[in-house]
Amino acid sequence: MSVRVRFAPSPTGYLHVGGLRTALYNYLFARHHGGVCVLRIEDTDRTRLVEDAVENIISISRWAGIEYDESPEKGGPYGPYTQSERFDLYREHAQKLIDNGTAYYAFDTSDELDSMRIRQQAAGLAPKYDRSTMRNQYTLGAEETARLLKENAPHVIRLKVPLTADVRFHDMIRGDLVFGGRDIDDQILLKSDGFPTYHLANVVDDYSMKITHVIRGEEWLPSTPKHVLLYEAFGWPVPQFAHLPLLLDVNKKKLSKRDGDVSVEDFRTAGYFKEALVNFVALLGWNPTADREIFSMDELIQLFSLEKANKAGAVFDRQKLEWMNSQYLRSMPDEELLKELTPVMDEAGFKNVTPEYALKVLHLVRERITKVNDVPRFADYMFGPVTTVEEEYFKKHWTAETARRVENLLPKLENPDNWKSAEIEAIVKAEATELGIKPVAFIHALRLIITGKSVGATLFDTMEILGKQECLQRIQHFSTENSDKF
Ligand code: GLU
Repeated sequence: MSVRVRFAPSPTGYLHVGGLRTALYNYLFARHHGGVCVLRIEDTDRTRLVEDAVENIISISRWAGIEYDESPEKGGPYGPYTQSERFDLYREHAQKLIDNGTAYYAFDTSDELDSMRIRQQAAGLAPKYDRSTMRNQYTLGAEETARLLKENAPHVIRLKVPLTADVRFHDMIRGDLVFGGRDIDDQILLKSDGFPTYHLANVVDDYSMKITHVIRGEEWLPSTPKHVLLYEAFGWPVPQFAHLPLLLDVNKKKLSKRDGDVSVEDFRTAGYFKEALVNFVALLGWNPTADREIFSMDELIQLFSLEKANKAGAVFDRQKLEWMNSQYLRSMPDEELLKELTPVMDEAGFKNVTPEYALKVLHLVRERITKVNDVPRFADYMFGPVTTVEEEYFKKHWTAETARRVENLLPKLENPDNWKSAEIEAIVKAEATELGIKPVAFIHALRLIITGKSVGATLFDTMEILGKQECLQRIQHFSTENSDKF
């Protein structure tokens, strides 16, 4: 049987990193097994819809390199599958369950349900629909039920959960699981407005789309016993389940918006490489080998196995993401870097910087930054005059003596025709030797003048890229500006 999986987000907001992980695992699993991965939009809850959410899910998935099958862009006639276009199917199926006695009509008003809950709470019971006392087809009888239906009295359809039997199923990550039938609520399947609930639509779709493996987040685990009962009620085979571990923050609490960015869009805007984000997200709850962390999408596909996924929550460690991005930054080919760099420079307002120059700067500083976006801020002095100088650094390194020494050095720096890092270094070192001082004294002073910052790339490489004219001008200007500061 060939593998068919689905990513089934609800369009209630922009795609979360947890959603990306679910999408990715489904995609990796499908590609690993030569199967199919479809996108299904679960928009049955019309009150929680967010405009643009579907477009965002699709465009972010595409950005990350996840393509869904059976969609027009993959040459398919469908897709994404959208539940709101399939309501008739769910209604028909709810009716089937009524007909075979595994679901029933219930007519309770919300006030009646509220008082039921209050009664249960007072008695120290967990809230659960009490089929034996409430107003449903069993307590009202067939005749009254028929009359109410004919009158179009507001009603829902509920699943008739067997009260005695335990529900058992196997989870590919968690093993064999058992849920007590007594704890499972008579789930509403069709709401009073005729719309299906998530549970009904989800199961009907997974069956009708021939989904073989349901791979989703752990937060859906409590729903699974209801789904298993629904499959049984329909007389359908149950698919395989795999519930992925929760994402936690570094304090081992459920990852939330309070911890900073959680939507994939935010990470994209912040300048993370899609390769790094995908690599990072892929390892949230799974790792093929203990001794390696960097994997391309093709390698992930090749190595992916749900059996190796962890049960324990996965810590979303932003520092690790930074580290991973910096690894990609160091190895990314120039064409890719240029693609990222050009809009970043534009955005930072350095519009007349040539891409070649920006790339040179990126190469210069890339061991010291983690994202392409860091370039304009980290190396602003490469794209315009030094506007601010670190005060402490200035105080420490700009003395009357250094000022005099730099003044003497300046004409020597005018000499070389070939303004190369090694050449500049040789001049500075020769001067230091002549004065009997350590070259580092010059290096600090020049770094202060050229960059204004205490931290940066190799000074002489920086000076080479800036060019002779610019460097000499900066030295002259700085010396004049600061001549009376002692
Ligand atoms: N629609 C659910 C969500 O928003 C998906 C549940 C499932 O995959 O079964 O995450």
